[in-house]
Parts: sequence; structure tokens; C-alpha cells
Amino acid sequence: MIVEMDCLFCKIIAGEIPSKKVYEDELVYAFEDIDPQAPVHFLVIPKQHIAGAGAVTAENSAVVAHIFEVIARIAQEKNLTGGYRVITNQGQDAGQTVNHLHFHVMAGRPMTWPAG
Ligand code: AMP
Ligand code: ZN
Repeated sequence: MIVEMDCLFCKIIAGEIPSKKVYEDELVYAFEDIDPQAPVHFLVIPKQHIAGAGAVTAENSAVVAHIFEVIARIAQEKNLTGGYRVITNQGQDAGQTVNHLHFHVMAGRPMTWPAG
């Protein structure tokens, strides 16, 4: 498992920084966003350190499919029947602030489009 010593989300996975867990298995961790932008706002991340969407490769992409399976399952459990939005920000222009791949899942209010 690749872990980055200075990565905030690697520290959250290791339990060194507290978080409100939504879901966990051997490959992924999901937790409440500390600054929610919707009534429901959690993040789903791979346990392996991947810097962002731009660092997904043929070697590590299986976890991305798994993340989307997990998102669908959590959405059913949370009864998000009104819909939800899944976002990943890659790089400066998109507003990425943590360089560990993460998918925002937001729900509980109507969303505008295009985002931002
Ligand atoms: P992004 O700006 O797309 O890189 O998203 C990073 C997200 O991480 C933001 O929505 C932050 O609110 C969230 N965040 C930052 N620090 C923490 C933390 N300690 N616990 C939970 N979420 C966090
Ligand atoms: Zn990391």
C-alpha cells in the first residue's frame, strides 16, 4: 500500500487525524466532509495514495470502479432518492486542495449546473 507521509487523507486513513466515518473496506474509506456544501456531503477515497484523477493509470484504476460501486451502495443506504452529485477536482483550476484522489458525494438540495 502506497502511503504519503505528508498527505492529509493518508493521515485520516491511518487514524492520525480524526474523521467521521461513513464507510470502510479494505480498499476505500468514506467520511464526512469537514466543510459540507450540501446537507449530505461526504468524501470517498482510495486507501492507496493516488494524487488525483490525473494520476489514475491502468495499474491503479480498478479502485475507481470500486469507489463508484461503494457510492451507489451508500446512496441506497442513505436513501438519496432525490439524486446526488459526484465530483472530483483535478488541479488548480478545478480547486483541488488535497492531493489524494477523492470523490465528493453531495445531496439533499437541488444543484446548479455547470458547477462553479
Ligand atoms: P478539494 O478541494 O476538491 O481538494 O476537496 C477537499 C475537501 O476536503 C474539501 O471539501 C474540504 O472541506 C475537505 N477536508 C479538508 N480537510 C478535511 C478533514 N480534516 N476532514 C474532512 N474533510 C476535510
Ligand atoms: Zn494520501
